[in-house]
Amino acid sequence: LRPEAALPPLATRRVSRKIMVGSVAVGGDAPVSVQSMTTTLTSDINATLQQIAELTASGCQIVRVAVPSQDDADALPIIARKSHIPVIADIHFQPKYVFAAIDAGCAAVRVNPGNIKKFDDRVGEIAKAAGDAGIPIRIGVNAGSLDARLLKKYGRVTPEALVESALWECSLFEEHGFRDIKISVKHNDPVVMIEAYRQLAAQCDYPLHLGVTEAGPAFQGTIKSAVAFGALLAEGIGDTLRVSLSAPPVEEVKVGNQILESLNLRERGLDIVSCPSCGRAQVDVHTLAEKVAAALEGFPAALRVAVMGCVVNGPGEAREADLGVASGNGKGQIFVKGEVIKTVPESQIVETLVDEAMRIAEERGLD
Ligand code: SF4
Repeated sequence: LRPEAALPPLATRRVSRKIMVGSVAVGGDAPVSVQSMTTTLTSDINATLQQIAELTASGCQIVRVAVPSQDDADALPIIARKSHIPVIADIHFQPKYVFAAIDAGCAAVRVNPGNIKKFDDRVGEIAKAAGDAGIPIRIGVNAGSLDARLLKKYGRVTPEALVESALWECSLFEEHGFRDIKISVKHNDPVVMIEAYRQLAAQCDYPLHLGVTEAGPAFQGTIKSAVAFGALLAEGIGDTLRVSLSAPPVEEVKVGNQILESLNLRERGLDIVSCPSCGRAQVDVHTLAEKVAAALEGFPAALRVAVMGCVVNGPGEAREADLGVASGNGKGQIFVKGEVIKTVPESQIVETLVDEAMRIAEERGLD
């Protein structure tokens, strides 16, 4: 058992209603799930399915597709049928696409009933259609599209405004007896976003979809999301999440999974424990760590690999790793569970670590 696996969770999970997004449970005692959104034109069925396949392979559990046109709505039946993970249709303003998505077999719809009410009040019909089909709806309030009435009331996009907006949107469905809902209240500022989710968590029992909207390019967006999600998940708040990055969606999934693994909310997969390097290092630790990570990407089980720049502290610092290397004098000491098992030339470090990882996989009955 990994030492961290024996630790108690950081917080008691907030009690939320459990909903089903296709085969994936969200809320209640279900594990926190990772979502992403395709960047292809949904009407380009092949490209969209290709991207969904890539997302699925990277560990995405639920995928959302944008449906801004009839062509996109027409593509939904094939996409929903062929995707290996549940597909959520993301719809604004147009009730007809909501009905199309439900008929197409989508696992859920993201729609804000406030928009529908404003333009074509068919909220009751949507509630009935979704209820009959047994699919949930995500109400997604975003800072950028906050209702003008609330903007006027609060003067700016505050946590209170986001929460009031979300609960008002929910009430439009609740009036029709529909409560198969999950909610997001996204803002690009993690401080506002964290407070909004805290308030929302205290005021309802709907499952919550975490997101920092328009988080930015990969580096900035990763940090903003990790900080915001980390704070909330460590308080037991959050049932599913999407990391929004101005980057390929597979990167969003990798970051989301890593956030969950970091908090022990998901079993850790490949965990590279590499030293930061210092004046004692006798090898380029940064390059070596990158090479080891690349060579072991997709390893089929939890594996912690230590990459240490010198033999002074190497094995000792990484005693809890499954295996590792400590470099020195053009060689690498390969160690397993803190014990040096062999020394190899620097050029053979990566392949030796891969061989040892495969041996561990075999021992564990994995291929
Ligand atoms: Fe420095 Fe060695 Fe520690 Fe790496 S393992 S930080 S090289 S002392």
